[in-house]
Amino acid sequence: MVETIYVNTTKRTQFIDITTKVEEVVKKHNIDDGICVVYVPHTTAGVTINENADPSVPEDILKILNQIIPWQADYKHLEGNSPAHIKASLIGSSVTVIVENNRLVLGTWQAIFFCEFDGPRNRKVWVKCIKG
Ligand code: ZN
Repeated sequence: MVETIYVNTTKRTQFIDITTKVEEVVKKHNIDDGICVVYVPHTTAGVTINENADPSVPEDILKILNQIIPWQADYKHLEGNSPAHIKASLIGSSVTVIVENNRLVLGTWQAIFFCEFDGPRNRKVWVKCIKG
């Protein structure tokens, strides 16, 4: 069964820590041992794992992504949000996390971030946990 996490973003580009919400799904499904797939079904958003201890880390990642992929350029896509599509492809649409004892097995400083690239929008994230 696929669970849906809802994320309401407030900025054009933004990282939002969704680790706790993903872990709630793991606990709900009582996954002693398995894997958890976190999937973003959008073309202008993504998901990544990185440091949440220092909020400067996601800020710096966004800063550099916005520098190397500027909002204004000679893009062809008529919707006008090509940089958001490009960032989404670079970051990726899914992450897979190991689950043990009903907990996500992440490194000490790691968190799962929803990555908004064309906000603000109401977004969703699909989570599928598999035992075994
Ligand atoms: Zn578009």
